[in-house]
Amino acid sequence: MAVVANETTIAQKLEALLKLQTIDSSLDSIKKMRGDLPEEVRDLEDEIAGIETRIGKFNREIASLEEEISKNRNTKKESEKLVNKYKDQQMNVRNNREYDAISKEIELQQLEIELADKRMREFEFKILNKRDDVSETETRLFHRQKDLDAKRKELDVLISESEDDEQRLLKDREKAVKFVEERLLRPYDKLRTNYANGLAVVLVKRGACGGCFNVVPPQRQADIKDHKRIIVCEHCGRILAGVEDVITASKR
Ligand SMILES: [Zn+2]
Repeated sequence: MAVVANETTIAQKLEALLKLQTIDSSLDSIKKMRGDLPEEVRDLEDEIAGIETRIGKFNREIASLEEEISKNRNTKKESEKLVNKYKDQQMNVRNNREYDAISKEIELQQLEIELADKRMREFEFKILNKRDDVSETETRLFHRQKDLDAKRKELDVLISESEDDEQRLLKDREKAVKFVEERLLRPYDKLRTNYANGLAVVLVKRGACGGCFNVVPPQRQADIKDHKRIIVCEHCGRILAGVEDVITASKR
């Protein structure tokens, strides 16, 4: 009796695994149909976010350069005021010494004015360059945004075509995964990620592993049918859930 119970358990485990595999394979083919589009959309979204950040940075740099210009403009105004004041004072000096002292002050302020002019020219030049950067980057943003819109539309169409199927499969999967032993789920997931075709559970077809197509010896096939334990392919490690072909190699 114990043996019978055990047999049923193994058979059920394999059946549950095979069911999960069937559902996952269907989900895989939906994903495959969508191709690289989801990833391309994500990449474009990331790129656009990066471009927007760069534009924001350029604009902040322009604003701070403008602030520098206005600071220098004020400095220049102050110096001009002082120059005018000193020139008035020069009219009323009592001696050459006073006149010379004031002349030095005027000279100093004129240097300040020249320096402020020079700085303002430099900042204006920098602003011009930054504005070029901004408009160049904005052009790139415009084109990327157009690419993104097109790809999103394309993806939306593909998704809407398969959305119902996908939702149904996801619900089925939720149920099916509950019947699979926790202990078997990890190797199942690992096998699925290891193999490009996503097959972790396969049947023996025409005497060969349905995953790697290597021959499964007749004795092994018999063991699989016995359902006494879970048997994996000795070549690829995939779980062999059953033998599809009724024709087995003749016993020698
Ligand atoms: Zn194999």
